[in-house]
Amino acid sequence: MFIKNYQPIPIENTKFVELVCSNCNNRTQHRIHEAYYGPQIGLIFLKKPLLSLKKYYLICPVCRNATKEISKEQVKANKI
Ligand SMILES: [Zn+2]
Repeated sequence: MFIKNYQPIPIENTKFVELVCSNCNNRTQHRIHEAYYGPQIGLIFLKKPLLSLKKYYLICPVCRNATKEISKEQVKANKI
């Protein structure tokens, strides 16, 4: 076990959402990502922590800007 900062990762089986990025102003297909905050505990070979608080964002594929935060319910609504 160790503690590190995990990068947001895309959530599998979710729809792309077309949005205008507030950072680069491109209209792009944003992917829903899960981001981790607060204390995080995981294993070095895992891409995501075993234990962490989570937030959900639509992230721009061009500049990696988190254009919009969404709720867990909205994530479920965008599942394929
Ligand atoms: Zn962008």
